[in-house]
Amino acid sequence: MTSLRQGAEKDKFEERYSRQILFRGIGVEGQRRLPAGRVAIVGCGATGSALASLLARAGVGTLRIIDRDYVEASNLQRQSLFEEQDAAESLPKAIAAARRISAFNSEIVAEPRVEDVIPQNVEDLLEGMDVILDGTDNFETRYLLNDYAVKNSLPWVYAAAVGSYGVTLNVVPGKTACLACIFPDTPRGMVETCETSGILNTAVNVVASVAATEALKLLLGGKALEHLRQTLWSLDVWTNERAEIAAGKPRAGCRACGERDFVHLAGEGRPHITMCGRNSVQIHERARPVDFAEMQRRLETLGIVRHNEFVLKFWREPYEMTLFPDGRAIIKGTTDTGVARSLYARYVGS
Ligand SMILES: [Zn+2]
Repeated sequence: MTSLRQGAEKDKFEERYSRQILFRGIGVEGQRRLPAGRVAIVGCGATGSALASLLARAGVGTLRIIDRDYVEASNLQRQSLFEEQDAAESLPKAIAAARRISAFNSEIVAEPRVEDVIPQNVEDLLEGMDVILDGTDNFETRYLLNDYAVKNSLPWVYAAAVGSYGVTLNVVPGKTACLACIFPDTPRGMVETCETSGILNTAVNVVASVAATEALKLLLGGKALEHLRQTLWSLDVWTNERAEIAAGKPRAGCRACGERDFVHLAGEGRPHITMCGRNSVQIHERARPVDFAEMQRRLETLGIVRHNEFVLKFWREPYEMTLFPDGRAIIKGTTDTGVARSLYARYVGS
């Protein structure tokens, strides 16, 4: 009986992934390798949604989806894992993404982590992964990922999109250039945000498709690695301008992969930061567990408040506060970190 059942499961697996198995670069052997693959997707906005969706459908066994934010209506234009109901409930993106993934591929594991990646938790969040994928919207986090990946000899894929432009780079520590080899400092052109330039969902999907394919090659290993791209690749889907810059060799004297000076890993936690295109400030608290029911009672007399299992929302004009169970908060209605800090102190605690 066991062998009959195993046979049926084998058929089901080969049927599900039949079109990918027919592709010569993967084949049945490659497909059988993917369930063991463990990929961290850091940031699950537009790029992260596309990366997670593609790799989940491709059959990568474990996706750890790390995101600090919650779903809003303005995300739905490009963040393909989310639905209107997720925005209505202000669901954390990691939770909404994991639910959606399990609806279309229940055979893989999607692990949601509602957290901001910072020096203090990066090891915990990324430990045990085979590949790290970049779905973030800021260079501060990317340099942190780069330091972690170089230090631990873990491959990662940088990916970014803004306006109609997308760019990506594979980093294989010890072999290729790392992010700090190419960009010793935050590049000027990429500090444009989705607020100033807007973003096309098509640019996002192109860059995510390219990055996800490189991730598959990294997971497959062997002959697939012969096709691993060794350039900084970019494309503007509007003007059709494209470019590739050689990135096959580390840069001599690179702070990260040359001198192994991991300044971002050693960072002292982050200052409170304003968030990309959001008129919002994030308050980094991690060790202030919040009892939502008690907090609801406390805030009820001061404004409108509601909560679910994952977030508590509090409205008091002109501000909107979203509080997570570990005490982290996103305060909307200001980009002034001082104002946000004092609102947090007043309503949550100092
Ligand atoms: Zn380097």
